[in-house]
Amino acid sequence: MENKKHTLPDLPYAYDALEPVISREIMELHHDKHHAGYVKNLNDALDKFPELFEKTVEELLMNLSEVPEEIRTAVRNNAGGHVNHSMFWEIMISPGAGGAPAGALAEEINKSFGSFEYFQTKFNDAGAKRFGSGWVWLVKNKTGELEIISTANQDNPMSDGHKVIMGNDVWEHAYYLQYKNVRMDYLKAWWSVVNWKKVNEIFDKI
Ligand code: MN
Repeated sequence: MENKKHTLPDLPYAYDALEPVISREIMELHHDKHHAGYVKNLNDALDKFPELFEKTVEELLMNLSEVPEEIRTAVRNNAGGHVNHSMFWEIMISPGAGGAPAGALAEEINKSFGSFEYFQTKFNDAGAKRFGSGWVWLVKNKTGELEIISTANQDNPMSDGHKVIMGNDVWEHAYYLQYKNVRMDYLKAWWSVVNWKKVNEIFDKI
């Protein structure tokens, strides 16, 4: 089963690529310690039921009730942490290099929220209001509509049947070294590192 273990993906850019919006120090800790920790803890939990290494993290998260109770919380937290961060690294790029929402996604954002600016405001508000640790997401919900939601801890919207388009990490480890307690400053600054080319691709696939 050794070859089936989940592995930490490399960042698709250098640790300092997102500066000055997100510092090298945050990225090193966030990827090498936090994300690596979720991967290790996921593998440690699955070691008790090695047949579950046959499943993808997405399959685990979409069917949490089928995961043995003994490891269900560990899988929820750590498969969530793994899939959330794998997405997060991919949807960021150096400041200003990310383009803009295009095509069908741009149309859907305008239709659902009135304007891109209003969408950003609503997304920031949802991220700021998340009490404690969690994520803010743009999803395609179960009825096929765009929706901004937030989840606690490492819960991924796919566990509730939503399809993730993009998400921002509002755990303190994502911003505290730079933005201290002012989460809203981080939320506002984050838009300049969103890789819309990637987000457009994700939207076109779901
Ligand atoms: Mn994180």
